[in-house]
Amino acid sequence: MKAWVLHSIGDIQFEDVKEPQPAEGEVIVKVKSVGICGSDIPRIYKTGTYHFPTVPGHEFSGIVADVGVGVKSEWKNKRVGVFPLIPCRVCTPCKKEQYEMCRNYSYLGSRQDGGFAEYVAVPEWNLIELPESISFVEAAMLEPMSVAVHAMRRAQPDKDSVYVICGLGTIGMLLLMFLKDVGVRNVLAVGNKDFQRRTALKLGLGEDCYCDSRTENISKWIMEHTDNRGADTFFECVGRNETVSQAVDLTAPAGKVVFVGNPASDMVLQKAVYWKILRSQLTISGTWNSSFTHSMEDDWHYVMERLQNHRICPEELVTHRFPLERLLDGLILMRDKSEESGKIMII
Ligand SMILES: [Zn+2]
Ligand SMILES: [Zn+2]
Repeated sequence: MKAWVLHSIGDIQFEDVKEPQPAEGEVIVKVKSVGICGSDIPRIYKTGTYHFPTVPGHEFSGIVADVGVGVKSEWKNKRVGVFPLIPCRVCTPCKKEQYEMCRNYSYLGSRQDGGFAEYVAVPEWNLIELPESISFVEAAMLEPMSVAVHAMRRAQPDKDSVYVICGLGTIGMLLLMFLKDVGVRNVLAVGNKDFQRRTALKLGLGEDCYCDSRTENISKWIMEHTDNRGADTFFECVGRNETVSQAVDLTAPAGKVVFVGNPASDMVLQKAVYWKILRSQLTISGTWNSSFTHSMEDDWHYVMERLQNHRICPEELVTHRFPLERLLDGLILMRDKSEESGKIMII
């Protein structure tokens, strides 16, 4: 089969490799759609995967082509989404079904072969069956959508609070989509691309609620739009020191700050910012990955239910579609930011 194999940092090749065989408890998924995640860019070009060679790609959907020993044969030919984290299932978080915090996990597309290929071996446990009404592209976005829902649920939103989302990459934008879906009235969003503005407005954000950080002073703008109070909940979806400090600075007394963005550097807090956390008694939360427990309560089922009821439309975020052999074009476009892009999808 054909696959994109990462041999060392920056060296990714499209080549013929042996088709994976299903081990006990595994199935083989024929990939129908796979998204490029923002995290794939540093993974491929800066930090590398856990070991080499590895096929990256963790946001994918497909059809079960083969099943291994011990797997129900009914899975064959089923359309599926895939939770990419493979937990150890013995550590303390795993015992509590908090698999996203597993101490000893594997991961499709970073610690073992993922979806930038024609076929992938996936444990049966990681599958979620797709109804006909959910497209493969939507299903390839189950992972980032679940990550956004996880972040939202960390904040336990109520309808009347003021929310700020700073950073409208895929996760920030999806967060906006899910906050709108739960009926939150006051959302302010900060972006820096024309595409982000257009998409945010399509998702129901008021024109007056969008701040373009290229032309506005974020602090001034947010204070003006919150009667000088700041946000009740501030989602920091950038991961830069400057925006982390702003998040604290622009959150109202007794408010919440949720750190969503992966850090681009060390984070240093100025004394005044630190004082603000103390004196305003802020709640600072981290969020990581998503919950997947096979119960209707987990983030993945939360997203599935809304997709099925057509309450959300993640395909609005897709700006580019490439066939598998052109994956590199998508990676380079994201790395070099040569064009504005939202979600880049391989189909
Ligand atoms: Zn991702
Ligand atoms: Zn574990």
